[in-house]
Amino acid sequence: MISDNLDRIYQELPSGVKLVAVSKYHPVEAVRQAYDAGQRCFGESRPQEFAAKVGELSSLNDIEWHFIGHLQTNKLKLVLPYASLVQSVDSTRLLDEIDKWGRENGRKVNLLLELHLGAEETKQGFTEEEILDIMFRASDGKFPGVRICGLMGMATNTDDMSVVEADFERIDGFMAYLVDLFPEMEGFDQLSIGMSGDWRVALRHGATMVRIGTSIFGERQY
Ligand SMILES: *Cc1c(COP(=O)(O)O)cnc(C)c1O
Repeated sequence: MISDNLDRIYQELPSGVKLVAVSKYHPVEAVRQAYDAGQRCFGESRPQEFAAKVGELSSLNDIEWHFIGHLQTNKLKLVLPYASLVQSVDSTRLLDEIDKWGRENGRKVNLLLELHLGAEETKQGFTEEEILDIMFRASDGKFPGVRICGLMGMATNTDDMSVVEADFERIDGFMAYLVDLFPEMEGFDQLSIGMSGDWRVALRHGATMVRIGTSIFGERQY
């Protein structure tokens, strides 16, 4: 049961750590069940599915949607008007386009920069050097259409928790370094790490947000 799964997680989650319920590939009824159990923040990873669910559940006006997947620049309109946080900004081209959209629409789009963390080649994200460069430009006022709220990362997909631990230590350390280096960057304080298999590890490494799908909703349905 979705509500039982949520209750178990709520019991373990320290206050101050936000649960993002990842509802991708699950029907809108599943989101509704989680909502009825008290969950308010949901994560989706595909623009079309994101927009469809936002539309179908628009009557629930205290619901909060995060976008957590790869976002192509031609899909911004499906996502940016409705996302309270875009967690997965993984290229300067995407960052520039989001900034442009924000300026044109009089908005500051909340986002996280995705650090390439896992050992997998395919995982998207910036290097530390690229993020540092963006942060220098941001602190110089170069991105008026966005608010950079922190970092997001996905650990290596492995059962070896020492590898996962090392990944999370790396992003947690980098986050602390940036917070120190850019004290003027207000609101740069979110670290989104941890999924169904490793969120308890992430809690030991500074997570302020965990993104949990399977442990709430079960195996993805489509
Ligand atoms: C799917 C997904 C999750 C959730 O994964 P689970 O293992 O089902 O908890 C978290 N973060 C991102 C970026 C995802 O794409």
